[in-house]
Amino acid sequence: MKYIFVTGGVVSSLGKGLTAAALGALLELRGLKVRIQKFDPYLNVDPGTMSPFQHGEVYVLEDGAETDLDLGHYERFTSGKLSRLNSMSSGQIYESVIQKERRGAYLGNTVQVIPHVTNEIKERIYQSAKDVDVLITEIGGTTGDIEGLPFVEALRQFALEVGRNDCIFIHVTLVPFLQAAGELKTKPTQQSVAKLREIGIQPHIIACRCEHPLDAGLRDKISLFCNVPVKAVVQAADVSSIYELPLALQKEGLDDLVVELFGLAQKYPRPEKNIWHEIVRRIKTPAHEVSIGVVGKYIELQDAYKSVYESITHGGIANNCKVNIVRIDAEDLEKKDGLKILKTLDGILVPGGFGDRGTEGKIAAARYARENKIPYYGLCLGLQIAVIEFARNVLKLKDANSMEFDPKTPEPVINMMEEQKKIIDKGATMRLGSYECALTPGTLAAKAYKQTSIRERHRHRFEVNNAYVGQLQRGGMIVSGINPRRNLVEIIEIKDHPWFLAVQFHPEFQSKPNIPHPLFAAFIGAALKRGKGGKISKKTAKRSK
Ligand code: GLN
Repeated sequence: MKYIFVTGGVVSSLGKGLTAAALGALLELRGLKVRIQKFDPYLNVDPGTMSPFQHGEVYVLEDGAETDLDLGHYERFTSGKLSRLNSMSSGQIYESVIQKERRGAYLGNTVQVIPHVTNEIKERIYQSAKDVDVLITEIGGTTGDIEGLPFVEALRQFALEVGRNDCIFIHVTLVPFLQAAGELKTKPTQQSVAKLREIGIQPHIIACRCEHPLDAGLRDKISLFCNVPVKAVVQAADVSSIYELPLALQKEGLDDLVVELFGLAQKYPRPEKNIWHEIVRRIKTPAHEVSIGVVGKYIELQDAYKSVYESITHGGIANNCKVNIVRIDAEDLEKKDGLKILKTLDGILVPGGFGDRGTEGKIAAARYARENKIPYYGLCLGLQIAVIEFARNVLKLKDANSMEFDPKTPEPVINMMEEQKKIIDKGATMRLGSYECALTPGTLAAKAYKQTSIRERHRHRFEVNNAYVGQLQRGGMIVSGINPRRNLVEIIEIKDHPWFLAVQFHPEFQSKPNIPHPLFAAFIGAALKRGKGGKISKKTAKRSK
């Protein structure tokens, strides 16, 4: 059993998660069984209750755990499915330690960060390492943060326990370019590594994020000051697509170095074939082009709809098509002439969301897509929006709404789920995780999935009110997927429309660049058809190379 720990230095948002994911992908290519997990030093038990402004997307696992979006990268880059064990926060650790203390499990001892908190952290590493060859653990935050100290200390102890030869520490750090000096600077990296060494951790590999190539002189300098061999100074330069990262890191010899350090180089040589070449080739040389509008309320944030944006890209890969994502603020659609922007689109997507800000704009977008026969794809809230729109404008129930936005609505076409009504706590109490969905043969959904039974991940409290299903169907709405156990509406479509489909679940949590999700592939396919075949112009083709 081998362990890799990924820490970060100098600043946050360095792409540690992507580095971990890309390394996982490279090790998997060599035949190693890999799992990647994340430890986050904040005190929230999980990110489920955090605002997208604070945290970005909440990524939901099959078992219903609400986790950091980096787990999305791990699942997209490697083949394993993750579980709640693979996402741990300080909040969880302290919760568990305090519960044990209340039960008297510490037998009268004073409960302390060392050893009780650090033991709890180490225990979690052992638990998640079962049945894989390599466990990669990313530590959130930046070295030097007070919150992160118990984790780093636990890692030091862990390496001592299992033997230093079985643990590799990778420090991802920033090598900034100073415009005024016209050069890359290594001092922040030196200081950040010094900080790690102060706690007793000597990193084996330094992955340097930089906007310009690291030349030999800089590599020598980092090697000398950070006490690693030159070949362990790895450049992690900016890439135009995140899916280039496995290739870029392989070129830097990162995976060679890791297997060499673990003494596995003979047994797991570099494979001839690398699927990432093909993925990148397809992203960079598309034959077609479409524009997809994503109508949300956090469009200025990079991370709020991470998996949605990635899955759209995968849908593009499936169709040999470049997708221009047009981020549209739902509230802008509520303004005079706001809908103009929709004219330029080949498809409209309304992602998940909470609260009523922007919902009228989203409803207007759904109506525009329905009436103008533009492909529409609704995810979770995007389904609820489509149902409200249909009830108001086709069934003429002008006050139709969701109980979430108007608890007193006379036409609650979207209702709170029965079991949710008595829940008070906000954390981890939604309908979460993977549930079965039975598809109606002959529908767009069944055609896309090419199956009649599927499983998808959920995160919601509200649902289509079954009291209205008959009316909706008579008006021309098709229920193409239901939860067979509880008869809940999971997928809807609209008759006489080229492609109008919305789902109560989150398909974006199960799409990968090499296995694009069938609904995303079908949506982009439909947008492509509408966009007059959208042959890509020579100019765009060149630009996207
Ligand atoms: N707010 C809606 C609900 O709770 C939709 C949730 C979502 O889009 N994830 O049901």
